[in-house]
Amino acid sequence: MGDCCGCSPDVALLQAKQRRVLTIVMLVNLGSCAMMLAASLYSGSSSLLSGTLDNLGDALTYLLSLLAVGASLRAKARVALFKGLLIFAAAVAVALQIGWRLRHPGMPLFEAMGAAALANLALNGLCLWLLTPYRHGDVNMASVWECSRNDIAEGVAVVLAAVAVWAFGAGWPDLVVAVALLALFLRSAWRVLGTAWIQLRAAQ
Ligand SMILES: [Zn+2]
Repeated sequence: MGDCCGCSPDVALLQAKQRRVLTIVMLVNLGSCAMMLAASLYSGSSSLLSGTLDNLGDALTYLLSLLAVGASLRAKARVALFKGLLIFAAAVAVALQIGWRLRHPGMPLFEAMGAAALANLALNGLCLWLLTPYRHGDVNMASVWECSRNDIAEGVAVVLAAVAVWAFGAGWPDLVVAVALLALFLRSAWRVLGTAWIQLRAAQ
């Protein structure tokens, strides 16, 4: 799942039908991001908050790809750099929240956490189902499908965190999963930023 959020489809090459699916998947990601953020604030779960990073990153990736159709290479590289910085800032905010939780240990409300984690997994499943007819199409849509498949693994990790919080009656499984997701996310965000930077230099 290391390549999650590393995909940036070239929307100009996609058919109208594929673009429509991409728009729907973008909206689903945006919705699940808002839902997870609210549930994380309510339940005090850090792993839910870490999980929102991926939804936010994916939604931004698809939104900016859809908006940047026909733009110059330089403009596209700028957009990618902007996206990279935005999700990097969000990741720093999540890291700060995890740091705060380490100093003020507590147990998240696992009912709310579990419900949100299951809803997120269902929404990830919906995206994968929507994208599956295009998995053997062009390289672009195949990579979006792969991203979506990786999101399932992440969704399962958050569900397992909720189950472990309930089973152990402790907050640490939530923090373990939160840190693992954040680390994976930072790795791919770093790579996206690096690629954008190289493209921007090359386009000048
Ligand atoms: Zn993703």
